[in-house]
Amino acid sequence: MVKLDCDLTMVQPNETDNLDTGKPVFSSAFFQSPLPMAMFEGTDCICKNFNLAFTNISKHHDAREIPLRDLLPELIDEVDRICKTVFEQGQKAYYYEFAQTQSYGNSNFAWFDFVFSPLKDTDNKVTGMLLTGFNVTQRTMALQTITEQEMLLKSMVNTAATALWMINDKGDITYVSKTWLNWTGRPFEDHLGRGWLKSVVEDDRDRVFHRFAKRFAAEKVYNIDFRIVGPNGENHWIATTGKPRYFPNGTFAGYVGSCTDITSRKETENLLKESEERFRRIADLAPIFIWMTDAGMHSTFFNKTWADFTGKSINELINTMEPEDIHPEEQERVRALYAGAFEHRHEFLMEFRLKGHDGLYRWIGMKTIPRYTPDGDFEGFISSGMDITENKEHEQVKNEFIGMASHELKTPITSIKAYVQLLLGMYQNDDDEFLKKSLTTVNKQINKLTRLITDLLDVSKIESGRLSLNNEVFVLNDLINECVDEVQHTSHTHDIVFHQDGRFSINADRDRIAQVVTNLLTNGIKYSPESDHIDIYIKNADGKAEVCVKDYGIGIDAKEQQKVFNRFYRVEGRNEQTFSGFGIGLYVAAEIIKRHEGKIWVESEKDKGSSFCFALASS
Ligand code: ADP
Repeated sequence: MVKLDCDLTMVQPNETDNLDTGKPVFSSAFFQSPLPMAMFEGTDCICKNFNLAFTNISKHHDAREIPLRDLLPELIDEVDRICKTVFEQGQKAYYYEFAQTQSYGNSNFAWFDFVFSPLKDTDNKVTGMLLTGFNVTQRTMALQTITEQEMLLKSMVNTAATALWMINDKGDITYVSKTWLNWTGRPFEDHLGRGWLKSVVEDDRDRVFHRFAKRFAAEKVYNIDFRIVGPNGENHWIATTGKPRYFPNGTFAGYVGSCTDITSRKETENLLKESEERFRRIADLAPIFIWMTDAGMHSTFFNKTWADFTGKSINELINTMEPEDIHPEEQERVRALYAGAFEHRHEFLMEFRLKGHDGLYRWIGMKTIPRYTPDGDFEGFISSGMDITENKEHEQVKNEFIGMASHELKTPITSIKAYVQLLLGMYQNDDDEFLKKSLTTVNKQINKLTRLITDLLDVSKIESGRLSLNNEVFVLNDLINECVDEVQHTSHTHDIVFHQDGRFSINADRDRIAQVVTNLLTNGIKYSPESDHIDIYIKNADGKAEVCVKDYGIGIDAKEQQKVFNRFYRVEGRNEQTFSGFGIGLYVAAEIIKRHEGKIWVESEKDKGSSFCFALASS
């Protein structure tokens, strides 16, 4: 509403009577006023005078003698009220926000508030009416914008996934948005005051209200998760947060807050919690050791088995960064294995001794694999292990037995061999062919037996860490030539062809490398019965001497290729029955090459032959 600052009833009739001829000051104020003005007389409100600004509104060039209802037809329903108020009651009449099509700033409309004031003579009798217009376009437009924004905000609030609420300084709800009404299925009025609490699940009600009351009294931010009952009796998890609000003068006005439906988040959290709990229970019950690390190499989990074994609490274990319970002899190896695995993120196996709560060490065999998030981000490692002390002990007993048995067998075999060779020499020129053949066969079998016993002794040496090397610098080509001659001497079925691409000196145990070469050559012959030759190559590979023995025999299936270097491993199937052997030769060869810090590998295809290679640093 616009209040007039000046009272137009002050205008005297004798002055207004003479407007067109009278006092120049007043009449020019009237005619030149930027406010639209017009004067009317008689109960029909006939226009008697007007200014230029008024013609813009009425759109009549000359308004004189035209009744108000024709000048401003938009007012037709109001004219009677206006004229009656002014002429009969001698009061001012108002008409607000008269819209006029005319450009005004950015708007195509201009709005005016009209004030109709009575003009009175000296007897206080109403003789006329003065219309004054006030341009209120800016105010109207501002109000319109505010109204539009309010409506937009309202529709946003009502359609938002978040519900809003307001509480007054007494702690009573004064507003909840439509989203809340939709969630609860109850009308607005039901939630006012403390009514909203009825929508909170009964079990949560006290907790929600007490926390609210406490925070409210302290005028502190209020955060809480609770459940509400939906329209069909179903429960929803809600997270609410409220902040105290204040009047401009700083006095406490209550709270304003929002609620979010977190049902699905809670469900996922619960499922996660459940599965975590299940995992923990399984992990604790399983008679295996479980250890987890994060991507930063920090231990994050040990299971109960581990804690019980070491006599430490899980927290103590997690906070112990160093593997101090691991036997000092294995600490460095375990640390290096872990560091390497973190760098390359590959799985690995390890065996180490772990100190129990009784101070005694037990052997643990552990497999460790990298963990990844569903998005493929590296999360750390999980290790699981078993107490393998008994296996280790059995193995040790077995190794000791193998060592002892092969040692005990070696003495009589050596003496038998000496006698057989003596007899062979003695009967070399004898006519008894049967005797000569028998002695040759016995000699061959004794050689085989000797090799087997030597291999078994080597296995026992490897297992007990007693395989020592006597390194010297020698030319590998010469050694290979010697091995080729020796093997060729005993095998007449295959030609062995030595291909040399360069000469290589190495610093190694000559006899042990000879053992490796001989083993690869004899295997090449043994596993290619239908072929008549094998090739052996020597060449430079990245500064190393690389030796490959290539045969054209039965070959090895891809999935077996790595296993052939394992102790006592023999490929199952045809060759098991056809070819004699114990599955020791390649294991010993691989250990010898490993001890020389070299590399050994096989490239093969079933039924197409194999290439067994090793590489050693040349000196
Ligand atoms: P052995 O030959 O006494 O069984 P090895 O340790 O020398 O023991 O070899 C292990 C296994 O690897 C053999 O049993 C055989 O199955 C396979 N193997 C070794 N060399 C070859 C080869 N050149 N071709 C095909 N298979 C081979």
